[in-house]
Amino acid sequence: MKSSVDVAIIGGGQAGLATSWYLTQAKVDHVVLEAGRVAETWRTRHWDSFCLVTPNWSVKLPGAEYDGPDPDGFMPLSELIDYFKAWADSFDAPIEDSTPVTSFEATDGGFHLTVPSGTLKARQVVVATGAYQRAHRPAGWEQLPRDLHQILAEEYRNPEALPPGAVLVVGSAQTGCQVAEELHDSGRTVYLSCGRCAWTTRRIGGRDFVRWAAESGFLTRSFQTLPSPASRLIGNIQSTGGRGGHDLHYRTLHAGGVNLVGHFKGANGSKLFFADDVAASVDFGDARLRDFWKYIEACCIATNRNLPDFDWPGPFRITTPTELDVHEAGLRTVIWTSGYRPDYKWVKFPVFDDLGFPVQTDGRTAVPGLYFMGVHFMRKNSSTILYGVGEDAEIVARHIVEARS
Ligand SMILES: Cc1cc2nc3c(=O)[nH]c(=O)nc-3n(C[C@H](O)[C@H](O)[C@H](O)COP(=O)(O)OP(=O)(O)OC[C@H]3O[C@@H](n4cnc5c(N)ncnc54)[C@H](O)[C@@H]3O)c2cc1C
Repeated sequence: MKSSVDVAIIGGGQAGLATSWYLTQAKVDHVVLEAGRVAETWRTRHWDSFCLVTPNWSVKLPGAEYDGPDPDGFMPLSELIDYFKAWADSFDAPIEDSTPVTSFEATDGGFHLTVPSGTLKARQVVVATGAYQRAHRPAGWEQLPRDLHQILAEEYRNPEALPPGAVLVVGSAQTGCQVAEELHDSGRTVYLSCGRCAWTTRRIGGRDFVRWAAESGFLTRSFQTLPSPASRLIGNIQSTGGRGGHDLHYRTLHAGGVNLVGHFKGANGSKLFFADDVAASVDFGDARLRDFWKYIEACCIATNRNLPDFDWPGPFRITTPTELDVHEAGLRTVIWTSGYRPDYKWVKFPVFDDLGFPVQTDGRTAVPGLYFMGVHFMRKNSSTILYGVGEDAEIVARHIVEARS
């Protein structure tokens, strides 16, 4: 590896590679420093049967927009990883594999980055180290009985890899629902500890909900449209691309036999405690669907289209246990799918807000030469997905080029 470079991009996922693509077009000298391999997060932090939740047509990576035979399908994980490898090869992305950056500091006219082989000097730095960084577990997790097998969502691979017995999945956004469904389908007794999540049917009026989200402006809404900064921590809309895409949310899971329980509240000995708030959580999701519906209504008016029919369900009211005895329930495993928090502790610059998100405008921070990519709602709702990351990368790359001239 060279000892100095104009731009160092930290992270070789979609955010880092998209930035690299635009810098390559602009003939800017740069390197992508990747702790593992290209698409490391997709390779090592997803379960075996994972498929994209967003349809293939929404893969809009620069230089690699999806144009395959199945635009309405949902790429399985192995195909997605191959897609990333082919994309990086297609523009000869200057990737340094197995190169974690452990720290970097400002120097005259740039930065010094610490990598395993020593120090790399760069004039500008783009931090693109992921949208889902540190797994979050709710308070009380440490009270669980020690003999329960506990894993994080990113450690889950398949039902066979778990000890036999019932499973508690804590956290119910896209990942929690998909994992609960897979475990239930494999014959396990499953308890799903439910939080406040948005949901929708997979198709609305015959069109995929992501198509509506893209066309209505829902995907491109900005940070300013959120009710609070903390809304960036709320999980994605409950849905799945599994089996060609189908409805997956509290009502389908309950109807299929998954045991819904409320928020996890802690444990005492073999007893686990849950709030009596499933109804409130489902009401919250119903309200978010009505928010989404407003976008669909506006889209229909703007495009002269009839509003689709929608079978609005009534309030969801079931009785759920607030206490579970591990032995009586035959519970052997707990899977934490309770969200993520930003984790930039190794970036020693005062550019973070109270929640740990970088304070930036279009990726630029108050520190000259320091940029971020792939941050939730960095510019838009779509900043962290395959649909929108390219747009952000183009803007960040342009800023980098302009700052040099
Ligand atoms: C379960 C799940 C399902 C998702 N499904 C979809 C979907 O269907 N459609 C969609 O569009 N999006 C989806 N996303 C969202 C998004 O596409 C992914 O989170 C994506 O991986 C984000 O890309 P990224 O480049 O920002 O981060 P990452 O892919 O996480 O890449 C960051 C890279 O940085 C590297 N890195 C980290 N720290 C360092 C360091 N200090 N030095 C060097 N390298 C470092 C990591 O090894 C990693 O390769 C999903 C996310 C999750 C978690």
